[in-house]
This record gives sequence, structure tokens and C-alpha cells, in this order.
Amino acid sequence: MQPTTEKFLSALKTGEIFEVENRYKRGSDGVYRWHLNRAVPLKNEDNEIVFWVGTATDIEERKKEMERKDEFIGIASHELKTPLTSLKGYLQLISSYKKDELPPVVKQYIEKANNSLSKLQRLINDLLDVSKIQAGKLEYAFDKVDLTELINASVENARMIHPMAHFIIRDGSNYLVNANSERLEQVVMNFINNAVKYSPQNKDVIIETSIHGDNVRVSVTDFGIGLSATQKERIFERFYRVEDKKHMTSGLGMGLYICAEIISYHNGTIGVESEVGKGSTFYFELPLVSS
Ligand code: ADP
Repeated sequence: MQPTTEKFLSALKTGEIFEVENRYKRGSDGVYRWHLNRAVPLKNEDNEIVFWVGTATDIEERKKEMERKDEFIGIASHELKTPLTSLKGYLQLISSYKKDELPPVVKQYIEKANNSLSKLQRLINDLLDVSKIQAGKLEYAFDKVDLTELINASVENARMIHPMAHFIIRDGSNYLVNANSERLEQVVMNFINNAVKYSPQNKDVIIETSIHGDNVRVSVTDFGIGLSATQKERIFERFYRVEDKKHMTSGLGMGLYICAEIISYHNGTIGVESEVGKGSTFYFELPLVSS
């Protein structure tokens, strides 16, 4: 019960809505069931809290439903991965088969098919990551990682994927962090891909490293559509996407959730600064380590 008390005391202090999930024993049959406890402060004209309205909602069925959904996502992404790998292999065989004799239009089709397959592969990998996170199985080894090398590799990759974008690197200090370089590169690439995706006009993207106290911050800045204050609050939630008909793009709202989980596993912090119509800066901070 300790986290509940801590959360409640903090809500009393800040006057923010209190929300926590707990299991309660049902009186009639002694069965434990999950409940969502909420307390909302009611304030007078002087903005003082007069009293709190508290509710406890039985969410046992909803929780079970979520567990079944997570299990399904896990199985489905595994099942999808196998035929996809074989498709990719066959495409490679076709493209290497009598390469010179293939009519140009067929070569073009193969390239298009490969692009679509890569997109599908990224989506399935994200789905797999989400299900691993839910099962508490997203684990990996740590090593000393040079951020300059990591950023250069990411930007090189990004230049191939987005030839129309203009990437500016502001770094060069070879800061070292304790990290899993593949996972950290996944975060940087996600920030970069989103920066390009959500900037329909200005395609400048700045990737910067800077020191903040004992931490090093890696940030990716774009000059795109930006985010409102409420959107910023929810952006790292699982499956959250901004409902915006004008700038609607494809995606499942998994990328930033996975990024937040990866950075939290690294004992770091993740965040965003943004203004609607001006652009966004997504960043993470990790403790600096010495060489
Ligand atoms: P996806 O892009 O696949 O929907 P993400 O988790 O990467 O999922 O992003 C969640 C949502 O955050 C996106 O749907 C988009 O609305 C918003 N978003 C992410 N990056 C940016 C950005 N650089 N500028 C504006 N909006 C962004």
C-alpha cells in the first residue's frame, strides 16, 4: 500500500487528480479484484480545495481483456514474422537471378516490394517490442557507447531513408554513456523519422548533444506541425496518436511508447518541448560516464 499512500500525499500537496490501481477483496466471495481508485479535488472560487470526490471502479474484466489483447499481439507478431522473412528471402533471390536480363520495370517493382516489406518489418518489430515490454521481457546488455559515433551512424542511415530532408548535426564531443547501442539508436531513429514525418514543409532536422548537469542530452528538433500542451502530456502513452485529420499519417502510436520504455530501462529521462505550428524538440538524457 506504500506507493498508494505516497501518491495520495503528493496529490494532497499538489492538488492534482489522484489515480491508482489496487486489488481489493470482494466481501461476498473473498475474491481479489483490480480496482481503479480516483480522487478529484473540488475547488472554491479562490482555488482552494473544499473536498475530494473519490471513486473505486472494478476494472478486473478490463484488465483481463487487456492481458488477452497483449497476449494476442505477442502471438500475432511472431506468426507474421516467419512468412515475412521468407518473402524477403525470395525477393532477394528474384533480384539476384539473371539481374542484367530483368526488364527495368521489374527491377522497379522489386524495389517497391522491398520498401513495403521493410515498412511491414518495422511495424512487426514494434509490435514484438510492445508485447515484450508488457511481459517485462525487453532486456538487453549495456556497454560504453560513444554518442558521436551513434549519432553519425543514425544520421547516415536517415539520409538514405529521407533524401529530401536536411540533417544538421551539432555535436562532436564524443560523450560516453552506459547503454545498449542498438536500442539507443532505435530511439534516435524514431525521433528522426517522426521529425521528418510530422514536418510537411520545412525538412530541416537538428540533432544535438549538450550537457545538463551530470547528464548528456540528445535532442532532435524539427520545424513541423508541433504539439499542443494536452498532446504533449499523452505522447509517450501506448497506442496514443494525435487525432488530426489534416496531418494524418500512417502509424500505430507505438514508437514513442517504446522509446520511453527503452530510456527508462537506461535510468534516463525522456521529454518533449513543442509549440503548435512551430515545431518540436524530442530529447532524452542519460548519465555521463568517464572514459
Ligand atoms: P506513430 O508516429 O507511429 O503514430 P509515435 O509513437 O512515434 O507513433 O508517435 C505518436 C504520435 O505523436 C504521432 O501519431 C504524432 O501525432 C505525434 N508526434 C510524434 N512525433 C512528432 C513530431 N516530431 N511532431 C509532431 N507530432 C509528433
